[in-house]
Amino acid sequence: MMSQSLITMSYIVATILFILSLSGLSHQETARRGNYYGMLGMAIAIIATALNGSFNAYVILIIALLIGGAIGVTAAFKVEMTQMPELVAIMHSLVGMAAVLVGYANFMDPSATLIGVEKTIHEVEIYVGVLIGAVTFSGSVIAFGKLSERISGKPLLLPGRHWFNLGLLIAAIFLGRLFLQQAETGSGIVPLLIMTGIALIFGIHMVMAIGGADMPVVISMLNSYSGWAAAATGFMLSNDLLIVTGALVGSSGAILSYIMCRAMNRNFISVIAGGFGTASGGEAAAIEGEVQPVTPAETAELLLAAKNLVIIPGYGMAVAQAQHTVNEITRLLREKGKKVRFAIHPVAGRMPGHMNVLLAEAKVPYDIVFEMDEVNEDFPHVDVSIVIGANDIVNPSALNDPNSPIAGMPVLECWKGGTTIVLKRSMASGYAGIGNPLFVMDNTRMLFGDANATLQEVLKALKG
Ligand code: NDP
Repeated sequence: MMSQSLITMSYIVATILFILSLSGLSHQETARRGNYYGMLGMAIAIIATALNGSFNAYVILIIALLIGGAIGVTAAFKVEMTQMPELVAIMHSLVGMAAVLVGYANFMDPSATLIGVEKTIHEVEIYVGVLIGAVTFSGSVIAFGKLSERISGKPLLLPGRHWFNLGLLIAAIFLGRLFLQQAETGSGIVPLLIMTGIALIFGIHMVMAIGGADMPVVISMLNSYSGWAAAATGFMLSNDLLIVTGALVGSSGAILSYIMCRAMNRNFISVIAGGFGTASGGEAAAIEGEVQPVTPAETAELLLAAKNLVIIPGYGMAVAQAQHTVNEITRLLREKGKKVRFAIHPVAGRMPGHMNVLLAEAKVPYDIVFEMDEVNEDFPHVDVSIVIGANDIVNPSALNDPNSPIAGMPVLECWKGGTTIVLKRSMASGYAGIGNPLFVMDNTRMLFGDANATLQEVLKALKG
């Protein structure tokens, strides 16, 4: 058993490690170190909590740790890089579920001894914890469904949906009052159960109403909610470390949501209210024109003739696992004296930072990887842009079709440069499910096929 001061000390050390972890994760160069800090902090937190003397069910704890750990390790080994966003979403749902279960366990705890104001505060913690947990749980399950394409990415826009949301909110507040009144006399389970149902429906409805292109905001928002759910669990269990950790995750997730909203030129409230953010008023314009296909050999010629090149990776690069071939081509072109830069759209791929992770894995030098804002002005001076499995993030209709579901979202304006070469397998749409006029522009060439396979051919031609 650890003394109280040692436990407090361990919690402080763990908190510092979590803060170092977050700051490490904000840069590619330090992300790996940030992960190690996080793992160490969590190990210290678990050991200190297990030894804090408040319980002695060690056998159950060890069994639970082994089962949970085994599931986590198996999932981590099995998951493909392209499935990471879904895995993250389902992990968020588990945090939500934990908050709900801890809330109910706390409510039904026969050994609870709190009285008076403290009891009421604890009941409020339970009610709010279950509410946030249930919204996080069901919202994350739907996000999982959308990201894994088990559920359509199209927004579900029910008539009167904002009134519906408002109704759910008012019902939750009313039930909260009822819960506190009934809890005085030892009951209250009925309003708690009804509110849980309402929160679950709200979570489902909130994420179902989000259009494909607004999903990144929802992912980061659910990340934030999972933090607040963990903080609520911390309040219920009177565990300071869990409160601090939850607040760190909650606030960093909220900052990320804000960054995502700014990147997509969306209003945060509009996105979470669902549907306000999606353009309305008509059908997106149909895409008309001829595509101009090229071969890998022709692509190599275009690359060799260019001096200033920009590579734009998208979700398809992750699917094709083309990042290593991309890196080899980049190295070769740079050896030939060409200026090669990467342009990263904030919502490229299926999770924040997705492309940066892939490029870091392939060891692409960080100093040639740029944010959208750093490159966009420069496209008129670019000879060739290579779009690798990207679609929505290079769609000009975001800028010039007010009826497009992605209207107003800043995109990488590669068409303003010399030639754009787009690598994809077909004319299929991207995540937002809309056509892309870039593919039929005069200065666009389409290189059809799996991006890794076609890039291998291009590499061969470049070497040959
Ligand atoms: P998109 O989903 O718009 O387009 C990806 C393209 O890759 C598809 O058109 C597909 O075309 C192509 N592709 C798929 N597999 C391969 C392959 N093996 N080889 C070559 N091409 C391939 O991706 P973007 O990165 O451009 O945009 C991201 C989208 O995802 C945005 O709409 C964003 O809002 C959304 N989103 C982003 C999240 C985030 O956090 N970043 C989270 C959730 C959603 P084809 O089938 O013809 O090959």
